[in-house]
Amino acid sequence: MNQVNFSDEIIGYQCIKCKREYPLEDMYEGCPRCKSNGKPSSVKPIYQGFFNGENWLPFQMAVSLGEGSTPLLDVATNHGNFYIKNEASNPTGSHKDRMSSFTISMAIANGYRGVVAASSGNAGLSLASYASYANIPCVIISTDNLNEQLASYIKSTGAELVLTKTSLERWELTKEYVKDGFLSATNYIDPPVGSQPIGIQAYKLVARECYGQLGSNPNALVIPTSRGDLIWGIYEGFSELKQAKFIEKIPKLFAVEPFERISKVLDGEKYTNHFNQNTNLKSIAGATVTWQSLQAVIESNGYAINVTEEEALDAQALMGRTGIHLELSSSTAIAAIKQIRKDKLVEGNDSIIAVTTSSRFTPI
Ligand SMILES: [Zn+2]
Repeated sequence: MNQVNFSDEIIGYQCIKCKREYPLEDMYEGCPRCKSNGKPSSVKPIYQGFFNGENWLPFQMAVSLGEGSTPLLDVATNHGNFYIKNEASNPTGSHKDRMSSFTISMAIANGYRGVVAASSGNAGLSLASYASYANIPCVIISTDNLNEQLASYIKSTGAELVLTKTSLERWELTKEYVKDGFLSATNYIDPPVGSQPIGIQAYKLVARECYGQLGSNPNALVIPTSRGDLIWGIYEGFSELKQAKFIEKIPKLFAVEPFERISKVLDGEKYTNHFNQNTNLKSIAGATVTWQSLQAVIESNGYAINVTEEEALDAQALMGRTGIHLELSSSTAIAAIKQIRKDKLVEGNDSIIAVTTSSRFTPI
């Protein structure tokens, strides 16, 4: 059931900021050199050999509950026509299932005692479900304002749920589990880096699927963003397609955020700053920016788009009327399209894909 086969195409890691290369050993805290300079950055795996469109993935065989291959839906609304890459169709209702598949597979391949994640939402439910399916111990560390229904779903998998008072305490506790032989699925350093780099590789498939399902290269993708695992994975996916000459240009990637974080950094603030603001858009909340999310936007000639809760609620209702039920944070991708068109950040006939990250039926 849980046969895992780690790819021998991966020969090491490379920092996505300073480009230093490292041998193939697990790296939780990003590039050691950039971290010691106070400017943390994620690393990415280095593959050898030729990319044939599908071989550059960490596993030939991974733990799976049937994630991925999500539908690309053509929708017509009063915001105009666009496509939805509906990640709400994944087994536990969010894009996180793609990452959980690879993270749990990594834990099995490298003989970890179990997995741990600091999460108050989709990532926790997803990881707990995949760990349970693979029969390995899982600890989800959350804050004590965790939604009760979500808590009951997580506990129903058999995972241990630990509650702390603050977000920062979650990261401290995660670190303790890591010392104890657990694989951390999420970041725990501040300033942060992205999640476990092998897990993020799963998001490359969002890019490849969009290209295949559309039958051509999309002009733009709109992606709800917190610490940028998804937008970076999608960027990497399109980069590989470009490198292999399947496409000529990486689509513009629009990072959608609930208040100005990436946009402030693009205007000159340090990416290691904290940007504190309360929001009910919980899945994309958080006070920090990562190097990976910034790079995905800059390198694709994209933009950061701010969406308010009211705009997200309107977009959620709009999509409900098309029969597609999205979590509020996920609906921000739809609201952003309205702004993108109004500000003429794309051409009139450009194909736009909103990556809708999670289902309204997940109790966040
Ligand atoms: Zn570095």
